[in-house]
Amino acid sequence: MNDDVLKRIREAGLKLTPQRREVYEAMMQLRHATVEEIIERVQARNRDVTVSTIYRILESFRSANILSFIYHPDTGKCYYDITVAEHHHLFDGKSIEDYADPEFSQLIREYLERRHFPTEEIGKIQVQVTLKKNV
Ligand SMILES: [Zn+2]
Repeated sequence: MNDDVLKRIREAGLKLTPQRREVYEAMMQLRHATVEEIIERVQARNRDVTVSTIYRILESFRSANILSFIYHPDTGKCYYDITVAEHHHLFDGKSIEDYADPEFSQLIREYLERRHFPTEEIGKIQVQVTLKKNV
């Protein structure tokens, strides 16, 4: 677990309990995961962490900006995302790949600025690219 994450956990007023560590480490491995996948991974390592505890931890991580949240455009399923910095996604069937490209994000900002969009109001730009399914 890196210092930046420890710092954000502390800043959010959260103690680094063994359960929080388990959930975060599961997310480090999974990168993008549904609640069910996270529960399965955490409980495979530690049966004592209850489902409601995992839900609570995920919600506290999300509000502390330790995890982000995305929706799969095809399935509508929600995924927690270990990456909170601005990045884009490639959706290929069930798989989700990160697409980090600051130049692309900047291009969109500049485009919007030319269109007189109030760019100072933009929090994050996240583009979703869905790939054609093999026929
Ligand atoms: Zn992502």
